[in-house]
Amino acid sequence: MNAMRELVPTAAAQAEAWARRALPPVDRVRPDVWAIPVPLDLPIRFTYAYLINVAAGAVLIDPGASGPEAEAALDAGFAAAGVPLDALRGIVVTHYHFDHWEGADDLAARTGAWIGIGEHEQQWIDRLDSDQLHADAAAVRFRAHGAPADRAEAFAAVEDYRFTRLHVEPTHRLRDRALLPVPGERLRVLWTPGHSPGHICLYDEKRKLLFSGDHVLPRITPHVALNPFGSPDPLGQYLGSLEALLPFADAEVLPAHEYRFSGLHARLAQLTAGIEERLDEVAAATAGTPDASAWDIARQLTWSRPFESFEVPSQRMALVESAAHLAHLRLARS
Ligand SMILES: [Zn+2]
Repeated sequence: MNAMRELVPTAAAQAEAWARRALPPVDRVRPDVWAIPVPLDLPIRFTYAYLINVAAGAVLIDPGASGPEAEAALDAGFAAAGVPLDALRGIVVTHYHFDHWEGADDLAARTGAWIGIGEHEQQWIDRLDSDQLHADAAAVRFRAHGAPADRAEAFAAVEDYRFTRLHVEPTHRLRDRALLPVPGERLRVLWTPGHSPGHICLYDEKRKLLFSGDHVLPRITPHVALNPFGSPDPLGQYLGSLEALLPFADAEVLPAHEYRFSGLHARLAQLTAGIEERLDEVAAATAGTPDASAWDIARQLTWSRPFESFEVPSQRMALVESAAHLAHLRLARS
């Protein structure tokens, strides 16, 4: 197999659905592995919940968001796979974002399944201090990034870290390179920080499948933010986590959104090159003003739309993403 080959979608129905902006069908990835699209009220439209049904019982990776529609989609997926809900033994959450984790609470309550999350993600969640996440404290953080007072308050109001602490406490803290507690299987945890502080991928050694969460998607470049209580250089971590996947370049990639594909090596190269290009743009923007704030930089960068026209949540994301780029330049390139 040629690890350098280009990125190729491996499920026509998924790629077609993506192009048509539709919900793809439940997809049988392997005889015992299923991709269940769970609808989502966001432009990415759905999260794939991956169901692995083996002798030891079933494991689900990323149950998706909660709500009646999502629950119905999961139930339909289990039915299509011929797996009774009570056969579910474990739920793995790749990272703390609600579109991956939210459904886990209900599903665990309905099935008694264990919930696993990366140990570094849980350590970070444990550090999320409610006082520091309070709207006033959050606004102070956004002002420190250079945002004007009214914007800082608006960003603080849409920041959602507080809800992260409301989930059921996961039963398993999954360590980097450990195997999931699924007898007879070799599902290995890979800590891939960047998109979130403790994001994990899972590598299925028997089937050569890489469950990549949001770390690697076929088209979208994952959002990397400077998080409170997280690494001072999340973008540096993200670049390192891309490189850490090189040994798995022959795997078929099963991402949480868009569609599954082969050609991981090519995708890692694309993502890395895109980030280096963006860093060059940030470096150019700061060239004459070494003390420029993340806000100053965000306003100068090229976005999908003019920065000033973004709604509050998108503008907040652009700001903390710019802050991550600036932090990387100041820490890693100096
Ligand atoms: Zn995410």
